[in-house]
Amino acid sequence: MKAGILALQGAFREHREVLDALGVETVEVRIPADLSALDALVIPGGESTTMNRLLDTSGLRAPLHERLRDGLPVLGTCAGLIVLAHEVLDGRPDQAPLDAIDCTVRRNAYGTQVQSVDVHGLPGGPFPGVFIRAPVVEAVGPTVEILAEHGGHPVLCRSGPVWVTTFHPELSGDLRIHQAFLGAQT
Ligand code: GLN
Repeated sequence: MKAGILALQGAFREHREVLDALGVETVEVRIPADLSALDALVIPGGESTTMNRLLDTSGLRAPLHERLRDGLPVLGTCAGLIVLAHEVLDGRPDQAPLDAIDCTVRRNAYGTQVQSVDVHGLPGGPFPGVFIRAPVVEAVGPTVEILAEHGGHPVLCRSGPVWVTTFHPELSGDLRIHQAFLGAQT
C-alpha cells in the first residue's frame, strides 16, 4: 500500500506522521507525476480556498479528478472535505470542489474545540474529534453513508472509497480512523 498525501498546503505533515506510525509507505503529492502508482490519497485540513487555487497552479486538478473518477480511495479531512464536496455554500466565487462525494458543506461553522464523537463500527469507544474552523455538512445524497454525527450534523461520511471528516483525526493522537479507512481499501 502506497498512500499519497496532498502536500500543497495545510496539515499534510501530521497525516504523514500518522501513516508513518501505521507503517504505510507515503508520497507527498505536489505535481501530477506524484499521483502515479498511488493506492490511496489523503487530502488534509488547511485552507480550502488556497488549496483550490493551488490545485490549478500545480496542474493537479484534472489528473486528480480523473484518478478520483476511477475510484482512487481518498480520505479528506476538514478543508480536504471541502475540496472533495459536491457543493460549497459559501466558498469563494472561484472555488470549484472536486465533487467526489455528494455532500453540501458550509465553511467555518465551528471555532476550535474537541468533541467526543461516536463513530459507527469503530472499536475502542468514542473518537476525540478535533474541530478547527470546521465545515458543517448541510446535506448528503443517497450514496453517502453517515458514520458519525455531532450536534445533528454528519461529521464522518463515506461514499464507497471516499471518506471525509469535518474534524482532524491526524491531530488527535488516535490512529483508528486512518486505520479504518486504509483497512476498508484492502
Ligand atoms: N476553514 C477552512 C476552510 O474553509 C478549513 C479549516 C480546517 O481545515 N481546519 O478551508
